[in-house]
Amino acid sequence: MMGEQPQKVVKDRDRPSGLESFLGSDVLIIWGVRVFFHTAGQGVFCCPRCGADRRYRRRSGRRFFTLFFVPIIPLSKVGEHVQCATCRTRYHPEALTLPRPAEQSAGAG
Ligand SMILES: [Zn+2]
Repeated sequence: MMGEQPQKVVKDRDRPSGLESFLGSDVLIIWGVRVFFHTAGQGVFCCPRCGADRRYRRRSGRRFFTLFFVPIIPLSKVGEHVQCATCRTRYHPEALTLPRPAEQSAGAG
């Protein structure tokens, strides 16, 4: 009698060993709306708090759509304010229309 032994067949698998999961499916997007101020102008005004002529910066604000904390799309304007460079107090832009003592005492000349 001839006994047949089962033949062992070893197949080579050419495929890489199962590292086919896609990690890119979970994307975290951080977005929001923030207000950014930029200096629209500067000059000298009479600061009510300092009580003297001080340098000011006129700051204009605008909302931005941000993506990953980077301003991407400009949105609506927020407003303007005037900031004293000395005491850092913020005023309404109308503070620039206040008469300055230097102008009042300035003679024509
Ligand atoms: Zn001031």
